[in-house]
Amino acid sequence: MQEYYQMTDQQAREAVNGTSQPLTDDQVRKNQEKFGPNELVEEKKKSVVQIFFEQFKDFLVIILIAAAIISGILDDLESAIVILIVITINAILGTVQTVKAEQSLSSLKAMSAPEAKVLRGGKVIKIPSRDVTVGDQVFLEAGDSVPADGRLLENAGLKIDESALTGESLGVEKDMDPIEGQAALGDRLNMVYSGSFVTYGRGSFLVTSIGMNTEVGKIATLLKTTSEKQTPLQANLDSFGKKLSILILAFCALLFGISVYRGESAGDAFLFAVALAVAAIPEALSSIVTIVLSFGTQKMAKEHAIIRKLQAVEGLGSVSVICSDKTGTLTQNKMTVEDYYVDGTRIPAADIDISQPSQMQLLRDSMLCNDSAIAEGKEIGDPTETALINLGLKLDCSYETVRGQYPRFSEIPFDSDRKLMSTCHVIDGTSLMVTKGAVDVLLKRISHIQENGQRREFTEADREKIEAQNMEFSKDGLRVLAFAYKEIPEGFSPGFDDEKDFTFLGLIAMMDPPREESMGAVAECISAGIKPVMITGDHKITAAAIAKRIGILKDENEACEGAVIDSMSDEELKDFVEKISVYARVSPEHKIRIVRAWQDKDNIVAMTGDGVNDAPALKQADIGVAMGITGSEVSKDAASMVLTDDNFATIVKAVENGRNIYQNIKNSIQFLLSGNFGAILAVLYASITALPVPFAPVHLLFINLLTDSLPAIALGLEPHNPDLMNEKPRPARESILTKSFLGRIGIGGLSIGITTMAAFLIGYHGVFTAAGEGSALLGSTMAFGTLCTARLFHGFNCKSNKPVVFTSRVFNNPYLIGAFLLGLVLITVVLMVPGLHEIFKVQTLTLSQLFTVYGLAFINIPVIQLIKKIMTIKK
Ligand code: ATP
Repeated sequence: MQEYYQMTDQQAREAVNGTSQPLTDDQVRKNQEKFGPNELVEEKKKSVVQIFFEQFKDFLVIILIAAAIISGILDDLESAIVILIVITINAILGTVQTVKAEQSLSSLKAMSAPEAKVLRGGKVIKIPSRDVTVGDQVFLEAGDSVPADGRLLENAGLKIDESALTGESLGVEKDMDPIEGQAALGDRLNMVYSGSFVTYGRGSFLVTSIGMNTEVGKIATLLKTTSEKQTPLQANLDSFGKKLSILILAFCALLFGISVYRGESAGDAFLFAVALAVAAIPEALSSIVTIVLSFGTQKMAKEHAIIRKLQAVEGLGSVSVICSDKTGTLTQNKMTVEDYYVDGTRIPAADIDISQPSQMQLLRDSMLCNDSAIAEGKEIGDPTETALINLGLKLDCSYETVRGQYPRFSEIPFDSDRKLMSTCHVIDGTSLMVTKGAVDVLLKRISHIQENGQRREFTEADREKIEAQNMEFSKDGLRVLAFAYKEIPEGFSPGFDDEKDFTFLGLIAMMDPPREESMGAVAECISAGIKPVMITGDHKITAAAIAKRIGILKDENEACEGAVIDSMSDEELKDFVEKISVYARVSPEHKIRIVRAWQDKDNIVAMTGDGVNDAPALKQADIGVAMGITGSEVSKDAASMVLTDDNFATIVKAVENGRNIYQNIKNSIQFLLSGNFGAILAVLYASITALPVPFAPVHLLFINLLTDSLPAIALGLEPHNPDLMNEKPRPARESILTKSFLGRIGIGGLSIGITTMAAFLIGYHGVFTAAGEGSALLGSTMAFGTLCTARLFHGFNCKSNKPVVFTSRVFNNPYLIGAFLLGLVLITVVLMVPGLHEIFKVQTLTLSQLFTVYGLAFINIPVIQLIKKIMTIKK
């Protein structure tokens, strides 16, 4: 059979669709049913049951199972049952957490799934790439990823990066001609392949295969489900957790030795040592991080920031520089034409008169050298260009009529490096190349000027006049495009080198007002110690005018053109970047150098990007931010965060969320570790002073299971602290376990440990009771109650590093209040319901004993709050 690349485009269409016509909607549906979704099949996901059983592989769980078996053998059936219940509940919790985290990640992935432009029902529409089917006509432009394999139907200078398939890193120039004989993949110039992306040009292709039948599908066979790598924080905590576990196991082994030496039965001593290990080892550390991160990313998605890489959430918390595009991110990207400059005169858009030949010519050219369109009232394409066709519609001169009259026969598409765009048309019998672009760039290529219907040589005086006019527009914050044309031979297909010797026609100036939220967001950045930097392809004066309006720039000296940094060494650039807030006329390579320079100064940099050439800068930045609405597929793929509203203020909000999430994780960990430390201190004290062991194994398991995890998770969901954006960014390399953090854990643990031991001693010696009523069991009951309740109270202490418990903030986290109340009810039931006493190894407390337990536990709040107060004042 003939291969598609050996056929003409029409032959290919007939071979695939059976007709030379595009698919009808009905055929599309049939093909979708027949060929299935356009997806690479992922390895089967683990089932919930598998995830459940995986929870039992954990080292600690294995120890617990061993402990349950030993308890059973030792005839301590209750303990064995409790341990088994604990293990099962723990496994259920672990399963729920894992499944939830996975669901949240895959829903985030779905939100940023790639899209493709296809012809359906005679119109070009955007659909999810997975819905593309065989026979579809897909449209491509710079920045798009190719969603399926296919044969080209149209080609306007397409260059495609096929490195993922062929390893060839240079963009391949495409060609429409059929190829004779066999050709290797990289040589099939009239074909495009899934997994590659468009670096330049425009075109469309007929889909010949999708999903697993594409070339990349054949190589990939089964894609491994890309499980998210551990974030630095998770890795950091995991390794800390492992070291801590070893230390705790050693301590427990020692304790076991001492108990046996003192004459306790080896079985009991073993069970206790195991329970202590389980209670003290913070096995929940990294799963707390996962849960808090996954809740956090869901919240961020609702606030228009989709996280593509979990690491980004942590990074966001320490962002110290945000480099943002201007157009669309800081501004509204709703452009309207304000002024014309033609025949040497400035004309407001409202006064344009299309009966004047030059004005009509400028309007006509602005619609011809233009790829935008309006379909069903919706603007499709670059807002700079839609502004131009909107002006035509206002003047009763439709772009469709003009384009119908003078069809395009060749073109050189726009790219932000060249800052020019050219199209070729036959106008009144003459072949013309019409070009528009940045004023400074185009002026360098002008040899003639048209004025009042006359074409003459371009003089220095003309240049100065146009530059002065450009300056005037730019100072008003207007974006200016220059227009020029030149005669070309009939049917000529121009290249980059032909973009010269033009005749200047005029300027069009348009307004793109700043977004209303930009000013507030910039001010918030500054008070949060974050430097906002504007990086734009636009003119320096325009950029500076807008930057001044939104507060990014104070002094004109803080603005420079990208070219200035070309001559600088990296070392010089490092000092230079600190003085600059606005970079204009920037090309994508400048962006990378600017990011690196800031990073070399130990900054964490967020950088926005939308174009095809922005991908390297987005990858280089610590947080690459792509635009969900206007961004290219390639930039979205390279980014770690995608904004669904393209808005600068959303980045600032994401930073705030990042800071909050990090602080909440820290608070959870502080809660877990200080509670565990308190328990160890109590046991240690008892062991040193030769007192009976203060807890039964079941106590520790109960605390570990019920009063540990829930408040820790609740702390992870703590609402934003209002001071969050008044603090400096967290140093990038700061480990979570700072001295002050460990200090807080130590103090919390000490306080909990002391109150717990006090409770034990009160019960043991029978203080507040009739003489002789004290016993080891009473002591142990009170110690258990106090440790458990103290940890619940301590949850409130861990809400903030500041003393906030005696403020209204104490009630702002309903999850924490819920976890507290649930824990309190459970421990009270265990202490007060006689039927449970056998299982939980406690004795009934009198009311005064119960309140002693509550009181001792509560003491932890004023004590820790006072210490926090003193520490805040000292700062
Ligand atoms: P930002 O980087 O903030 O998004 P930008 O949109 O101005 O800014 P580019 O799209 O790279 O950046 O445009 C750079 C310059 O190229 C613009 O200032 C303008 O002069 C010119 N330009 C932009 N769009 C077009 C276009 N469609 N055709 C011709 N020239 C254009």
